[in-house]
Formats: sequence, structure tokens, C-alpha cells
Amino acid sequence: MDTANHSNKQVFAFEEGNGKDKKLLGGKGANLCEMTQIGLNVPPGFVISTAACLEYLASPSRGLPAGIMEEVRAQMRALEAKTGKGFGNPEDPLLVSVRSGSAISMPGMMDTILNLGLNAETLQGLIRQTGDPRFGYDAYRRFIQLFGKVALGVSDERFDDEFEAVKAVANVKEDVGLSAADLKEISERFLKVVEEHTGSPFPEDPFEQLEIAIKAVFNSWMGRRAVDYRRQFHITPEMANGTAVNVCTMVFGNRGNDSGTGVAFTRNPGTGENKLFGEYLLNAQGEDVVAGIRTPKPIDRLKDDMPEMARQLDELRDKLESHYREVQDFEFTIERGQLYCLQTRNGKMNAHAMVRTSVEMERDELITKEQALLRIKPELLEQMLFPRLDPKARAEAVAQGLPASPGAASGVAVFDADRAEQMGRELGQKVILVREETKPEDIHGFFASEGILTSRGGKTSHAAVVARGMGKPCVAGAEGIAVDVNRREAYVGETSFREGEVITIDGTTGKVYLGAIPTVEPDFSPELNTLLSWADEIAGLEVMANADTPDDARSALKYGAVGIGLARTERMFNDPARLPIVIEMIVADSSEERQAALDKLLPLQRSDFRELFEVMSPRPVTIRLLDPPIHEFLPDEHQLERELIELRRLAETTRGMAVLSGTMSLIHASDGARRELDAMRRMVDPALVEDAIAKKETMLRKVRILYETNPMLGHRGVRLGITFPEIYQMQIRAILEAAAECARMGVEVHPQIKVPQVCTAQELKRVKFYVDTIHEEIKQRYGHPVAFKFGTMIEVVRACMRAESLAEVAEFFSFGTNDLTQATFSFSREDAENKFLPLYNQSTILQDNPFEVLDVKGVGKLMKLAVEWGKQTRPDIHVGICGEHGGHPSSIAFCHEAGLDYVSCSAPRVPVARLAAAHAALGAKL
Ligand code: ADP
Ligand code: MG
Ligand code: MG
Repeated sequence: MDTANHSNKQVFAFEEGNGKDKKLLGGKGANLCEMTQIGLNVPPGFVISTAACLEYLASPSRGLPAGIMEEVRAQMRALEAKTGKGFGNPEDPLLVSVRSGSAISMPGMMDTILNLGLNAETLQGLIRQTGDPRFGYDAYRRFIQLFGKVALGVSDERFDDEFEAVKAVANVKEDVGLSAADLKEISERFLKVVEEHTGSPFPEDPFEQLEIAIKAVFNSWMGRRAVDYRRQFHITPEMANGTAVNVCTMVFGNRGNDSGTGVAFTRNPGTGENKLFGEYLLNAQGEDVVAGIRTPKPIDRLKDDMPEMARQLDELRDKLESHYREVQDFEFTIERGQLYCLQTRNGKMNAHAMVRTSVEMERDELITKEQALLRIKPELLEQMLFPRLDPKARAEAVAQGLPASPGAASGVAVFDADRAEQMGRELGQKVILVREETKPEDIHGFFASEGILTSRGGKTSHAAVVARGMGKPCVAGAEGIAVDVNRREAYVGETSFREGEVITIDGTTGKVYLGAIPTVEPDFSPELNTLLSWADEIAGLEVMANADTPDDARSALKYGAVGIGLARTERMFNDPARLPIVIEMIVADSSEERQAALDKLLPLQRSDFRELFEVMSPRPVTIRLLDPPIHEFLPDEHQLERELIELRRLAETTRGMAVLSGTMSLIHASDGARRELDAMRRMVDPALVEDAIAKKETMLRKVRILYETNPMLGHRGVRLGITFPEIYQMQIRAILEAAAECARMGVEVHPQIKVPQVCTAQELKRVKFYVDTIHEEIKQRYGHPVAFKFGTMIEVVRACMRAESLAEVAEFFSFGTNDLTQATFSFSREDAENKFLPLYNQSTILQDNPFEVLDVKGVGKLMKLAVEWGKQTRPDIHVGICGEHGGHPSSIAFCHEAGLDYVSCSAPRVPVARLAAAHAALGAKL
């Protein structure tokens, strides 16, 4: 350690500490300083800095940094002067609390020691001073226990045993029933417990007590609880490093019925209502409210108990808010008609309350629009955009898993995908699929379910990823649940639920409930609309939606998308009514046959597009030409093989019967027998069987021809559009005709044609040629041109490298960051997320899952190059992103910085993206 540091000031009176410096003083300490300095009634005290903590932890001898105790002694003398009491003075003892507090609040990391400074002598002084022996011994036994536990490591049970023993002897049930003598007895037993544990008597010297307590708080920074907490919540040394120690003069809320203590929020953290919200207890000390030993009263009632205090508390609330300009969560204590504020911090609220308070505080000129936007984390809005449990329904969760995909859902439990499909699809029941973990073959069960619950796996498990993709709620890794698939039952602690019993899951919180809990649909409050309209004014990026169907498009509009950035046409091909025609097209042997099938698809696609255009008019709609490998639409090879074997057997049997009936006629079989055999033969028409075999054989042959070892890197996207030009031509025609029809009806449309998987400009030029030819023809036919834009996905590395030449043809670029991430890492997403990514993330080989959080360093760099080179060729090229990342706030910040024009994401994420875009523009660090 730098020795120069030793002369630096490390201890600050509440009057002198810089209230803005949470890093140095911790959150609690900084605010105690700030409140003191703006004239709020804070009991006098001082803060020992986090720097001292770090220095202490780094010193091999584990001695306090030189000079610290001198500073502490000086501060204690100042406290004595302010309070008129003496530390260790038996006549009128000064007592203090010793409290931890780092830059980021870490609740429960470390307990507070109250009433420090008590010993056999000062205790008597306190009793004489207050004339209340019961109060004195109560304070004493609390101090011994807290100090014993926190500073000396004595387990709570040792104290509790003694406590219960005395209660039993005294024959009282409630703590309040204990007499002064009982509490004296308890204190004495406690002192023995400590002596037995440490091998030496309880420290009597107040300064020794103080020094031990300070070290204990410092040590707690590296304690197991604190270390785990920081890991869990990703608290890095930049965010919080070391804990401060706050030493604060004790005030007593347990001095009678003119005293009390409580905690309150300046506004309601559940609804945002602009009204004091909180609880208090009369005649109690701080921890009693939190500990739940007695039931506190709602803060509204304080005006009946102590009207003057209620008035002062309202005043305190106003002062806190007008100073901090943020909802505050504060602690107060009343000692004999004197109100003290013991702590304040920014209030944690749910999304509804955050949005409402943002809009109302702006209206009251407490904050600016920018501040109103910045105080809300974009992800928080998710809470408002998915169905959630009715807050009025009070229910106890039976298990806790990971919040893997937001939203809440109820339904009957089913334990395998087939049953889910049967009960969900066929019987029309709402089901929740419950599995230990899910696999790709469970996918049909996902479609049929309202939500998914797994007992194993993390946020990147198959269940989590697929559920998020489908926008269905998912709770993953609820380890408290043991699933027994064979018995169709799941065990949770003492209870269990069987198939068919209703359960409720909340993918936003990770909680699981038995029974049906009412849910409420997401609501777009007027406040949210106001807030998002501010966001749109400030944002540089536009937010579009990924939407494939008119329904998706309508919800995109509801969420405020300015257009469709990606409409995938494969969903339209997968429609059960169309699949046979699609298959016909694929198995066609000649161009003519293929054209015949495409001619049937054309009007269907045209009306799809027309509907999309109409819903979105006059906003742009970007349609991506067919992307997946074509064999995906065909039946499974092995299934076909099995069916062929069956059919061939059948054919053999029918042939056998034909032979038999021939023989029968030779041997003059009875008429009756011959008639019977003929009837049997007619039942299975050999011609039909042969026909079916021929069809299956053709299909199997096609499936085998189209088979690919690596379909995702194979014959798909634009490659398909070039080998089977008719397919893309049909789609292009459908788009342009739909647009022409809309235009004719006076519906303003802005179609954009987007080509997937492009890696060379030549590919793009080919497709552009189809487009131009078809457009020319349509122009002739409709008598006017159709305005459209032509562009490309950028989702392979080569496309990034060749952006300059792609931009000669493309009027827009759309980064497909799902594929681009796979291509950049050479990871297949499914394998990565199932096999090694979780370990990579845990061991921080990779900080984040690159499929969730855009890999700015690698993928992002490619994107920046592509943007730069694209703009060199075509300065006004429109650039956006349509991968899943387009809805992720930190990725959005990157897109803003990289100079993109828009992001496109799933409809429910649009509001999150709008707010994130505003944050990005405001240069907020997300
Ligand atoms: P936490 O961070 O867990 O809230 P605190 O340091 O705020 O811990 O203290 C725990 C409890 O003790 C709180 O209710 C607080 O109000 C109370 N407390 C702390 N210091 C004092 C004090 N000097 N006088 C009276 N009560 C105190
Ligand atoms: Mg506190
Ligand atoms: Mg792609």
C-alpha cells in the first residue's frame, strides 16, 4: 500500500463527508452526510471510508490502517461534544450503532450492531439516566447478542437457547412479558456464552468494542454471504469496492408510547401513487419492524397516535423528494417526540410505479423528461408487457426457479409433450408442460402449452430459449420440484401435483404456484404512452417489429413499431392448408410442373402480403424471401421408409391373393369361396397400392436427393433462389402485385424486398434482375410503377467484407445477427447453448451468451466495418438489425453508436427497444 495514503483523511463526520461520493462513503454513509448537510434531523455520527476497508483487507497483519483509530477517537470526542454525553462515561453514556454500507446496497450482507458502548458500568448509568431498568437490560442483552454474533462469531442459537430457557423459567410467552430481572438474567447468561466461545471475558472497554466492531464490518466485505451476493448480482469492483463503516449516535424508539420506529417510501412502490407509504411500530427499536416480531401499523395511522409526528413526517417526505428528486425509501425513529431520519436511499419499485412516478415527477417539475426516461431500465418495462399475476391475488409460491421467459400462465400440469399436445390441441385445455428438462423433440408440446416449467437447466437451457422465442412464459431450473414422468406426478416439498391438476407459473419472477391464480393482461397505461412518446422524440434509432402475420402486425402497431423490419415468408409456407402445394412444388420433376404448383401459391402469398400492407399502411413492410433449406417442408426420411415397407407388404399380400384366386378356378373351388376371395381382393385395390408405393418412392427419392449433411450451411436462402428461380420469382411477383393492388385502392404502401444469406454481389444482382423484370411487367399491366426498396440481409462474414460492393445493388442492409453470430464464432446455436456455453459463461471465458447479448467485440466489429464500407458506396444506405439482439438494450446502445438507422425486434419487445433507443441517444451507460 502507498504509505502516502496513511496521512489521507479516511474518517468523515456527517457534516463533512461528500454526499455525492458513494464510492468512498458507501450509499448509506453518503446519504447520512447529505441529509445532515441539508438540515434533516440525523443523529450525529461519522463514516469510515471504503478506502480504509480496502487498505485493511490488503494488510497482511489485519491491523487497522495507521491513524484510523486516532481519527475515530477525534470523531468520538466531537460526538461527545455534540450530544453532551460521554463514551464509556458511567454518568451519562454515549451509545452508538455500527453499520455497514457499500456503494451498492447489499441487503443482509452484514448485521448492524446497536447500543455499542454498554458495559457493566455504563449500563447502570443508562438505567439511572432513564429511570428504566427494563429498558437498560433490554438494550444490554441486544448489544451482547449482536456484538457476540456479528463481531465475535458466536452463533445465534447459543443465545436463543439461553433466551428460551429464561422465558421458560419465567413462564412467559412473549418477549414483552419479560421483566427487568428476567432481562438481567438473560444478559448475564449471554455474557457467559460469549466468554465460553471466545475464551476471554466480554470486552468492557468501549473503544476496544468499537475497534473490534469496525474490523468485523470490514471483514464482512469478504465474507461468504457478501461474496456470493456480489457474484449473483454481477457487482464488479468498479461498481462497489469495499464497505464503509457508519458510526451513529443511538436514538431510542423504545422509550415508551411517545416513541417508535418505522420505514417508509415517499410514494407507493407498488402503484406509484403520490402518497406516503410505510409502516411503524410504537415503542420499538429499528429491527423490530423488519424482524416481524410484532405486526406494524400502516403509516396512515400515525396521525391518530402522534399527529405532530405525522405532520413532521410529511414534511420530511417533501424535503427528501425535493432534494433527491427521486422516490426515497427511508428509516425513521421517534424518541420522545423527536423525529430522526436514520437512512434514505432511492426506492425500488415495480415497472408500473416507475412509469407513473416518472411521468408525475416530470409534471411536478421535480425531474426533466430526460431524467424521467433515464431512471427506468428498459428491461423493467417487460413486466408491463406480458400477462402478470393479479397483484390482488395473494398466493404463496411452492417453488422458485429461474425467470426464464416473462409472463404468467395457469393450466393443467402435463408431463410429456405428446400428452400436452393431446390435452392442449385436441381437448382444448390450457396446459403447462412440466419436464425435468426439454429436448428439441418436445417442440410440439411447447406449441400446445401456455407455459413451460422445468426442474433443471438455466436461462440458456433449451426450454428457456425456445419459450422466449415463442413468447411463452417459462420457469426453468425449479430445483425444488422432483418430476416423476412415469407416475405423472411432481413432488414439491411436502406436497405434490399430478397430471391434470392446475398450476400457475410466473416466468417474470420464476415462482411456481399450486392452483389457478388470476392473471391480468398487459395494459398500456396512458403514463406508459406518454413516457414512450418522449422516448421517440429523443431516440435516434427507429424501432420496427419482426412480424409474419397480420395479427403480429397489429400487435406491432399497438406496441408502437414504425414498420415491419422482418416478415418471414416460411411461416406462410408451413400453413397446413398450403403445405401439400408447397410439397408439390418441391417434388416437381420439371419446371412446368413446378410452375403449376407455384401458380397455385401465388394468389395465396399475394393476399398474405396485401393484408400485411393494409394493416401497416403507410409504414414500410420488409419481406424476406424464402430462407430455410427446402427439404424442411418435406416428410421425414425414416418415416417414409417405414411407410414404404408397410405398403410393400400390403402389395405382396394382394398379389398373393390374386394367385390364389387363379388357382381356385383351376381346382373348381366352390362358388362361395371364390366370391369371398374376390371381395377381399376388391377391398384392397392393387392398383391403388401400387400408386401409393410409386408416390412414396418418389417422395423418398426427393428427400434423399435434397438431404444435406449441414443444412443450415447448405442449400438455403439466396442459393435456393438461384437454383430454383421460380420460387423467388413467385414471391417477388406476389409482393409487387399486392403492392400494386393496394396502390390502386389508394392504400399507401412501402414494400421492401430482402434477400437472405447473401455472400456475393453477384447473387444479389441476379435476384435484382428478377425483381426488375417482374416490376417492368407489372408496371405495364397496372399502368403505374410500384415504389419499393431492394436490400439484403447481412448475416454471413463474407457479406460484411463485401459490403462495399453489395451496396451497389442494395438500398438497405439488415443485420441478421443470429446467423452472423453463429458464423462469426463458428458455433451452432443449439449445440452451444446446450453443451458448452453455460460453462463458458460461468467461468467467464465468455462474459455473456453472444446469442442474447450482441458480441460487440467480434460481431459488432464486423457490423461496424460493413456499415462503414456500405456507406462509402451508398451514403444514404438504410441500415438496421433484425436479429433477436434488436430488442436487447445493450445491443441497441451499440447499434446507435455504430450508426444504424433502425432496430427490429419481436412486437412485445418494441417498447423496451423504444426506451433503450432513447437511453442510447442520451448516451446512458446501460
Ligand atoms: P440495514 O442496512 O440492514 O438496514 P441499518 O444499519 O440501517 O441496517 O440498521 C438496522 C436497524 O437498526 C435499522 O432499523 C436502523 O434504523 C436501526 N438503527 C441503526 N442505527 C441506529 C441508531 N443510531 N439509532 C437507532 N436505530 C438505529
Ligand atoms: Mg437500514
Ligand atoms: Mg438468418
